[in-house]
Amino acid sequence: MNDPRPHIAVLGAGPAGMASALGLLKAGHDVVIYERYPRARAAGNILNLWPPPIKALQEMGVDTEDLGAPCHATFRNAKGRVRADVQIPQDVVERYGGGFIGMLRPDLYSRMLEAIPKGVLQTDRHLTGIHDHGDGVTLTFDDGAVVETPVLIGADGIDSMVRRHLWGDTPKRAHNLHIIGGYTFDTSVVAEPNEVVLTHNRTVQGSYTSIRSQGRDGYQWWVLEAWPDDRPAPTDLHAHATELAAGFPGPLSALLAATPRENLQRWPIRDLRPLKHWSKGRITLAGDAAHATSPYAAYGAGMSICDGYFIGQVLAGVDLGDTAAVTQALVDYETPRIPHTTEQVQSAYVLGQVFHHAPAPLRPLRDFVLDHTPLLQRQMGERNPRDIVAQLDEMGTGIVAAR
Ligand SMILES: Cc1cc2nc3c(=O)[nH]c(=O)nc-3n(C[C@H](O)[C@H](O)[C@H](O)COP(=O)(O)OP(=O)(O)OC[C@H]3O[C@@H](n4cnc5c(N)ncnc54)[C@H](O)[C@@H]3O)c2cc1C
Repeated sequence: MNDPRPHIAVLGAGPAGMASALGLLKAGHDVVIYERYPRARAAGNILNLWPPPIKALQEMGVDTEDLGAPCHATFRNAKGRVRADVQIPQDVVERYGGGFIGMLRPDLYSRMLEAIPKGVLQTDRHLTGIHDHGDGVTLTFDDGAVVETPVLIGADGIDSMVRRHLWGDTPKRAHNLHIIGGYTFDTSVVAEPNEVVLTHNRTVQGSYTSIRSQGRDGYQWWVLEAWPDDRPAPTDLHAHATELAAGFPGPLSALLAATPRENLQRWPIRDLRPLKHWSKGRITLAGDAAHATSPYAAYGAGMSICDGYFIGQVLAGVDLGDTAAVTQALVDYETPRIPHTTEQVQSAYVLGQVFHHAPAPLRPLRDFVLDHTPLLQRQMGERNPRDIVAQLDEMGTGIVAAR
């Protein structure tokens, strides 16, 4: 099958692919998303978004009204004492419906899919071959179909074939950590509403946050600990998570007890070492394909959505027949994005190591420092909000308005 309509090809219908398509549509280009599965499916349940992706979604025409619960975040020690208070400026909180928004991943997918015009998403399309011939890119699919596109955006996740095609194999980095998370709408559990509470004991992070899903209030929670990447998953996830949560202050254990088993999931934590470049010729990367990140950042999906916003910005008004202009636009996209995302990837990796892989004799010292110095407040309480405000500024006043 040959498709005569020149359209930008986006590979993958995750947050990065859907956002790239929406950003490019807003910029006035024709787009098709190719997804290998029969539908765009959310792999996972729990999710929080910072204000920059909310701004991006709004600009792309995604309805963010009541998408999640507006939350304020604190880091606490095992006795519940606050170590860092994440101080997102009030005007940002008011403008984007919260400093950190707690939601379920399928709700984000539904809202993004609602904004994507019919025909843009093609499912059951598994890309197998890529050839950039200068004037365009030829794509080959597993059913033998061949498609010509002026630009390919590889938003195909942590196992990206587009990344491999451009930059060769980059093995996944195992953090030797795993996270078990779940959610409940059981209203009998009493927990602080509209808070993200991130608590660390000597070896485990036990956290919970308010969520809203389709008009219902609830909570999501997670426990995170060191776990060798090659060790099989615990046989009874609920029992294992319950054991980890025991001893944490507040409602964590009660939330876990109120969580139906089908609302529980586990992920081993892996990322990709950051690349120096993402783009080559008429092809670039977005989302986890470009910057797979530990959930410690709680920003992988957020950065993926912002990638789509910036892709729209740089390609707005660009003549897709002009190879030099397209190549330059993709360089303009990655130039600020790579340092920003690299910092997030690396700091999420380091946080995981510090909280879960510190040698046992050093843990009391680490916790003394975190309890009695402003280190965590400076890093997570103040620097993180500054970065968020800087991102909002960098996004400017819109996708098209920027040019
Ligand atoms: C436990 C956990 C908690 C997290 N919490 C947060 C959080 O709170 N906040 C946050 O911002 N982020 C969070 N993240 C990170 C976030 O989930 C990811 O960064 C995000 O999903 C990446 O989106 P993506 O679109 O790049 O990739 P994906 O979601 O992996 O999507 C890639 C898509 O490409 C398709 N595809 C792949 N290969 C092909 C091919 N050859 N042909 C066609 N289609 C193809 C796949 O089927 C898939 O649909 C969390 C991650 C985990 C594991």
